[in-house]
Amino acid sequence: MDLSIVVPCYNEEGSLPLLFSAVDEALADSGVSYELVFVNDGSSDETSRLLHELPTPASAERIVVVDFSRNFGKESALLAGLQRAEGEAVGLMDADLQQPPATLLEMYRMLQANPTADCVAAFQEHRNEGAVLSFFKHAFYKTFDATSRLNAMPDASDFRVFRREVADALLSMPESFRFSKGMFAWVGFETLPFPYTPANRVEGETKWSFRKLMRYGIGGVLSFTTFPLKKIAAVAGLVATLAGLVLLVEVIVEQFINPAMPSGYPTILCVLLLMGGLILATLGVIGEYIARIYIETKRRPAYIAKSVEVRTGNERE
Ligand code: UDP
Ligand code: MG
Repeated sequence: MDLSIVVPCYNEEGSLPLLFSAVDEALADSGVSYELVFVNDGSSDETSRLLHELPTPASAERIVVVDFSRNFGKESALLAGLQRAEGEAVGLMDADLQQPPATLLEMYRMLQANPTADCVAAFQEHRNEGAVLSFFKHAFYKTFDATSRLNAMPDASDFRVFRREVADALLSMPESFRFSKGMFAWVGFETLPFPYTPANRVEGETKWSFRKLMRYGIGGVLSFTTFPLKKIAAVAGLVATLAGLVLLVEVIVEQFINPAMPSGYPTILCVLLLMGGLILATLGVIGEYIARIYIETKRRPAYIAKSVEVRTGNERE
């Protein structure tokens, strides 16, 4: 099998029929043998029923449907899809047709045409979103690259096609907090950019609220760097110590010049507040990391699948 197309689905009942026909249309005469790996990420609508009942696209070799026991998030869904994918190359695609199957095929062709490359990643030439969101996303990439010393391709999405080696490398990473943008940067390999402009969602709304994105972004940065843990407290401590020393010298000198001078409450208050704030902030950072260590040490699986169905052609196995 040439290509596995992995599609995470969360409440995508409106998009799925269109997706099935779009995939068939794009790949039918391509000469590429492919499978579809759908992961139903605990949808509460008809997604699961549709995945099981929609006729398998005639051009697909087989279709795999993994049903999660609840919503575990897109990253977990991608992991489950990767684990089931058997193709020589793997493509990741959203269910909402913002990332057209025809484009996926072009990316696959580009990968085939470049034997030295291991991955083709679509990056958004023009963002179809507001200035505020764009600003935060940009700030995120800057922070991520600076702190992780990795190079996450800015504006590269999860819309990718990559070789089996890359898939195996991703699967060899055991962490349960999975952050694909970082993981793709971490595993390395030669990645070619593929410019594209995402289409509008065919149906429904984005599943990401600003808060969810923010939490996801902060989590992503923290999981690829220990910079805040090691450096913030150390640097702040050093600065505070130096300032304290200077203040001490000043106080002693002052005593000689003007022995009757009353001691300065405002100074003490400032120093107290400053130090208290620094200590609490540092504790907060340490807490973030300990929470992560706690989660990882529990070694819980990234998801629970309640069923897996494999269909070949139009038959069920
Ligand atoms: N998705 C998922 N689990 C979630 C949220 C989203 O599997 O908890 C899927 C969703 O069905 C879609 C893809 O991830 O196929 C991207 O989601 P969405 O289109 O909402 O994100 P956006 O395109 O706005 O970044
Ligand atoms: Mg989308």
